[in-house]
Amino acid sequence: MIIITLQRAKCIGCNYCVELAPAQFQMSKKDGKAVLLHAVEKKGFHTIKLTDENILEANLKASEVCPAKIISVKQT
Ligand code: SF4
Repeated sequence: MIIITLQRAKCIGCNYCVELAPAQFQMSKKDGKAVLLHAVEKKGFHTIKLTDENILEANLKASEVCPAKIISVKQT
């Protein structure tokens, strides 16, 4: 299981996560911040749980390059 969390309010809209992991991230045309697709929001944290391990590497890269450091990727 891979758990990805985005602390969306702090997003600066740089688009890096979308470039690296387009299957999970898109930019919102409404507010210019990243959207973590199919995520559940709780207290500002948007979370998805995925069983496909193939997406791990791309999302780890997105987490590393995110200048706001608001993407967390955990493997359980
Ligand atoms: S890399 Fe981080 S700051 Fe940049 S758009 Fe994605 S979530 Fe926002």
